[in-house]
Amino acid sequence: MRIVLMGPPGAGKGTQAVSLASQLGIPHISTGDIFRSNVSAETELGLLAKKYMDAGEYVPDTVTNEMVKHRLAQSDAAAGFLLDGYPRTVAQVAELDAILQKLGSKVDLVIELTVDIDEVVSRLVQRAAQQGRTDDSEDVIRRRLEVYGEQTAPLIEAYRARGLLKAVDGMGEIEQVRARLNQLVAS
Ligand code: AMP
Repeated sequence: MRIVLMGPPGAGKGTQAVSLASQLGIPHISTGDIFRSNVSAETELGLLAKKYMDAGEYVPDTVTNEMVKHRLAQSDAAAGFLLDGYPRTVAQVAELDAILQKLGSKVDLVIELTVDIDEVVSRLVQRAAQQGRTDDSEDVIRRRLEVYGEQTAPLIEAYRARGLLKAVDGMGEIEQVRARLNQLVAS
């Protein structure tokens, strides 16, 4: 199964993506995680990405697309994957289509985790305190939500129009949301 998991920052995508991917036996591919590990390792990519991440902006499409293309070409992604945090722009949707077309496959399912925005802000503020993420100050959180609304929310409609979208209620306990997701992929 080739799945894209979408939802605003703080919707709990990362947590749910890890368990859903392991349940399905497919790799969890998070562009945010790949960027963060590059930032920690102080690679050239990490140094470039950090500037954007710390400002709540998206890393440029050319950089992100190249990274995803490389990751999806690895053998563990051949039988399926769960993409978390990609695509996030119209250009990334086109690139993902092109990458998969070359590999002779396509996206099977796009899951939108829906949440209440006030709840999202409080989750992000809490996570910033726990993890000390430098991209989680209140101003940056607000900017990230704004960028999501401008650049990523429209993709949901595009995937809906293709008949690929399924929405899942992301509110409630982690276990409840996990059960909803498991039910969706089992159906
Ligand atoms: P995330 O953990 O998915 O919220 O990603 C953290 C940060 O990494 C984002 O706020 C962006 O700066 C950057 N990032 C992650 N995925 C993408 C993407 N698909 N396109 C551009 N920037 C991204």
